[in-house]
Amino acid sequence: MKKEPAIRELLHSHNLRTTSCRQGILDILGNSSEALTEQDIKTQLDSQHDRTTVYRSFKTLIDNNLIHKIVVDNNLVKYALNPKWYSQHDHVHFYCKQCDKLVCIESEQQAGIPLPEGFSASETEIIIKGTCKTCTE
Ligand SMILES: [Zn+2]
Ligand SMILES: [Zn+2]
Repeated sequence: MKKEPAIRELLHSHNLRTTSCRQGILDILGNSSEALTEQDIKTQLDSQHDRTTVYRSFKTLIDNNLIHKIVVDNNLVKYALNPKWYSQHDHVHFYCKQCDKLVCIESEQQAGIPLPEGFSASETEIIIKGTCKTCTE
């Protein structure tokens, strides 16, 4: 399954140059069914990219809404490709405490809860922690 043309289009549609590092990160996340840590991604990336390049690529992709960062706790941060429905509504994440798996959960419902008058939300981060299907079985 070749995803490269789509990935290139994705970068192009955001007026971003296709660099091998950006494309590599998108490919890895695009082929993964769960969110990955920077370390997971680095291990799969060509070792030719230095830390600064990888760091900048992450930043560019996040700033351009192609990938998003999920902070589970101080020690665990993961990244996921923005799903097609990403911009339409907030979404929640599920984190499995047994196997460290983190996935984006699509929900038609707004994840946000009603705010007091005068407050406005710019982003909502909700992480549901528990046990995934594989670990339950
Ligand atoms: Zn699990
Ligand atoms: Zn997500």
